[in-house]
Amino acid sequence: MISYEEALKLVDDNVSTLGKTEVKLNEMAGCYLAEDVIATMQSPQFDNSAVDGYGIKTADLTSASETSPKHLKLLSTIAAGSPKELQISAGEAVKIFTGARVPSSCEAVVMREYCREENGHVIIECSAQQGENIRRAGNEYKKGETVLESGIKATPPVIALLASLGHVKFSVFKKPRVALVVTGDELVEPGNPLKDGQIYDSNAYGLSAALNSMGISDCKSFIARDTREETREAFEKALADNDMVISSGGVSVGDHDYVKETLEALGFTTVFWRIAIKPGKPVYFGILDGKGGGRKYVFGLPGNPVSVLVTFHQIVKPALRKLAGGPFFRDETLRIPVGSALKKRPGRLDFVRGTLKRNPNGETAAIPTRGQESHMLSGLAKAQVMLHFDADLETLNTGDPININFIDWND
Ligand code: AMP
Ligand code: MG
Repeated sequence: MISYEEALKLVDDNVSTLGKTEVKLNEMAGCYLAEDVIATMQSPQFDNSAVDGYGIKTADLTSASETSPKHLKLLSTIAAGSPKELQISAGEAVKIFTGARVPSSCEAVVMREYCREENGHVIIECSAQQGENIRRAGNEYKKGETVLESGIKATPPVIALLASLGHVKFSVFKKPRVALVVTGDELVEPGNPLKDGQIYDSNAYGLSAALNSMGISDCKSFIARDTREETREAFEKALADNDMVISSGGVSVGDHDYVKETLEALGFTTVFWRIAIKPGKPVYFGILDGKGGGRKYVFGLPGNPVSVLVTFHQIVKPALRKLAGGPFFRDETLRIPVGSALKKRPGRLDFVRGTLKRNPNGETAAIPTRGQESHMLSGLAKAQVMLHFDADLETLNTGDPININFIDWND
């Protein structure tokens, strides 16, 4: 059996990013940028005011204070969006609003809170530094500068930044098209009555929701009874228009586990089957290169609902991220104390689901949630972090350091 690290490396080595496409800004959430963002103009574009206030010459206010306020002649008002450029001279001020262009003759803007108006004058109770409250043209970036690098996720600030540069569309990597196959004779669609021995299919819902959270929507799911024929038929349908198929169940060593042999019969190369992790030991990863180019990927995840989502989070998500043009590995593990003692047999890396809690001494510790078995969704549902209880360890005492990663369904 391979280790978790070896499995991740094999996934990384075998997954390549999809091609590029252009999308409108309001359709790009969840995509990764396929080109650097080069500034088409400087930011800010022009000197503008950071506050509502009065543009002045600093020398006029050198000795201004609450007890000795200065009176300046008010020339005019400049609102945001106004193209006005006017000259002020010593003893004069101009009323100015946040975001409005600051005339070059103004040396600072005094906040409105320190001023009052009277008879065409503004009375100011404080002094001002050169440049105070002026957002200088180009002080964020200059025209032609690389503002963001390709590969960054189109998060709300990234999309807002593209809009601020006037883009309507931008180049992104294609999102992976994904379908699901859920296997099992015992499965019933929620909403229908259960007969003895049957259970509701929760994996299709959990996986669809996990994909949705990553911005991959409209995933079809195909249910296969535990026969060779239905398993093959479901995979053939699921693979038809998609880059990746994620299946649940039927991948272990049971008499009715047909996933691996079905995929091999369909021509898939098995990259790995079985990883030294818990939960999720039977995970399968296979690839098939299409005749017309384009690779298909299948992750055969175990059936247990917790195993499905844990292995999706820890193994499939990096693959989807890379396909979509994002980073495969992220520096997301932290080392913190474990909040209670842990025990296991050595040999497999145990992904313990946990929450974070601050100790009385101010240190944050990771506490396992109640319900750690692989059918216990409630324990995963409450968890914030995944504790990595190393393969070769048998025990950890309270306070021992442990690596954790955040459970983040969105990225
Ligand atoms: P399997 O890997 O097919 O042997 O399934 C392992 C366990 O997961 C069994 O208890 C199954 O009933 C359960 N299981 C399999 N598929 C699903 C599903 N789609 N939803 C909920 N539980 C499932
Ligand atoms: Mg099964």
